Amino acid sequence: MRPNELSPLFASADVLKGVGPHIVTLLKKALHLPPGVTQPRIIDLLWHLPTGVIDRRAEPTVAAAIPGTIATLKVRILKHRPPPRGNTKAPYKVATEDETGRLDLVFFRAERSFVERQLPVGEERYVSGRIERYGETLQMAHPDYIVAPEARGDLPLLEPVYPLTGGLSGKVLLKAERQALERVPALAEWQEPAWLKQRGWPSFDEALRRLHHPDDAADVSAGSTPLQRLAYDELLANQLALGIVRESFKAQRGRPVKGDGRLRERIVAALPFKLTNSQRTALAEIETDMGAPRRMLRLLQGDVGSGKTVVALLAMTTAVEAGAQAALMAPTEVLARQHAETVAPLANAAGLTMGLLTGREKGRARDEILARLASGEIDILIGTHALFQEDVVFRDLAFAVIDEQHRFGVHQRLALQSKGNGGANMLVMTATPIPRTLLMTHYGDLEVSRLTEKPAGRKPIITRQISTNLIEKLIARVKAQLAEGAQVYWVCPLIESSDVSDLAAAEERHAHLTQVLGGGVGLLHGGMNATAKDATMAAFADGNLKVLVATTVIEVGVNVPNANIMVIEHAERFGLAQLHQLRGRVGRGSRESYCMLLYQEPLTRTAQERLAMMESTEDGFLIAEKDLKLRGGGEVLGARQSGEAEFRVAGAAGYAELLQAAHDDARMILASDPHLTTTRGEALRRLLYIFECDEAIRLFRAA
Ligand code: ADP
Ligand code: MG
Repeated sequence: MRPNELSPLFASADVLKGVGPHIVTLLKKALHLPPGVTQPRIIDLLWHLPTGVIDRRAEPTVAAAIPGTIATLKVRILKHRPPPRGNTKAPYKVATEDETGRLDLVFFRAERSFVERQLPVGEERYVSGRIERYGETLQMAHPDYIVAPEARGDLPLLEPVYPLTGGLSGKVLLKAERQALERVPALAEWQEPAWLKQRGWPSFDEALRRLHHPDDAADVSAGSTPLQRLAYDELLANQLALGIVRESFKAQRGRPVKGDGRLRERIVAALPFKLTNSQRTALAEIETDMGAPRRMLRLLQGDVGSGKTVVALLAMTTAVEAGAQAALMAPTEVLARQHAETVAPLANAAGLTMGLLTGREKGRARDEILARLASGEIDILIGTHALFQEDVVFRDLAFAVIDEQHRFGVHQRLALQSKGNGGANMLVMTATPIPRTLLMTHYGDLEVSRLTEKPAGRKPIITRQISTNLIEKLIARVKAQLAEGAQVYWVCPLIESSDVSDLAAAEERHAHLTQVLGGGVGLLHGGMNATAKDATMAAFADGNLKVLVATTVIEVGVNVPNANIMVIEHAERFGLAQLHQLRGRVGRGSRESYCMLLYQEPLTRTAQERLAMMESTEDGFLIAEKDLKLRGGGEVLGARQSGEAEFRVAGAAGYAELLQAAHDDARMILASDPHLTTTRGEALRRLLYIFECDEAIRLFRAA
């Protein structure tokens, strides 16, 4: 359970003075509440950080006050001049002075009693706001603050400016933030004192104070020391939590799985190709993991077409050689069936028994598969998430492969893994190149194997950017290529996000190309029914169609090795990842392949960089890294869709250097204090609770 010491931070925000149901509703809009949190809490206020400050420190005399600036002045109230009765347009003026001059305070549509109460004649007040000149008079319209001399401390000389929402005033929020700040307990330091000293970072509570109650405007600016400190706290909490989850996973009753190679030999002999070096290396890494007594968790990354399936199959075979079973889970029915079709002849050659279990297998058929699985007759089971249903019982599952992992939320997967599947070793496969920095935030240091090499015989794809002005020239060249047997994908402009205009453009291009090229041009778009799509695809695959004009919805998994030219219109409107995926449809056969990126001028700087990147490399990893840089945030994992919490302080892009340090730090901490039981460990547990990584701490109890 969360220590009592931290309870004040997690109290509901409505315990604060001035925060009633109405303000709570506004806070829900203004604050970024983490998923699952419905009521704003003190901690949510604290993570709602100011974006700047209003500097009220200038305290001139009236004579020295500069019009156009914000200042705080001490004045004596002389006289009230309410507007004439019935004239609502005229302002309410209050004359004030100090020993150097006169200052009018001006209120439009003021409530008379309010002004009278705030500014009693004959008394002194501090007023803070923008100084203006009105004819010969100096004035201040609607002072931001009016305080009596004894309450001067209430006047924020450096006033933090918070992101607001309609109806929520800065003053109300500031008042709530100040109270929230008072509730921050003094906590034992969890960071290394030497590290703090080296970076010049304040303590946790001091960092919060310097942001919400600044006495230096620089503290609130991007990259300030208090912000760095809190970002580092968050990154460290994140890395520790991932480390704990991972350690607990690996500590589970893993078991060494070693094969003798006899079945694998037969499969390799039955393959119509030689394994690439990348595939061999990845296999060796997987085998080493499987043979070790700890539970394996490894990611296999490889671009589309890099040959992950055969690696998975050979690794699964190892488990069978060891007398156990293996499973392969795909995200969709179609992919599961495709895998089964690939694997079946090879399994046959090796004398392995394969089963297929998806949502389509029901009733008797399903019962039969389950029975054969429980008896151990089935060596390898391929399927969808139907595999994880409770009544699916293996005789002895030693190895599980999950394909196209990025389609599942990261937390879902961690939960799945920490549940434990009888200590089965796990391999997750993805075609999404996940940059190192993202991998670290999402997985900690999960081991990674990469297929960096393409299967032999695939030639590089020649990529060129061409201005749309030269389109007729391009069409002429395409025509010449077609005469030599080429086949062409022609992807049409993505116009806004409307299907209608997409389609219109594709239809227009289709008509134009048909006219110029004289037939053999097909059209594929999202609005067609499945049969029509299949027929068009089949005609293209058989070579009856030479050119396929398509909207961006070219089906995933389309594989026409003879197609060697990809033309993308308005390439400047596509993201890097999308361009890379589209280009991946060519370069599969023995022909020279081309990717032509047609662009419309003028190009933005980012678009220029994207197209140049596409020209310079085919490396999916480099492209993903660049993509991340250009977009400044990570959507690569599809984290948005899966409802992943974003960082509250450490917006991942700006803190790459700190992330590396936090990663190393977490590793060292867990190596020497795996259950966080030392004095620093206890303090770190508080850090984990503060960043709401309770799940990770719970695992200590399970271990
Ligand atoms: P992915 O990594 O996208 O899952 P697949 O495993 O589906 O890729 O492999 C793509 C194609 O490449 C398949 O037709 C497969 O048979 C073939 N392939 C795999 N490895 C090799 C290799 N070493 N040499 C030649 N072709 C290979
Ligand atoms: Mg695949």
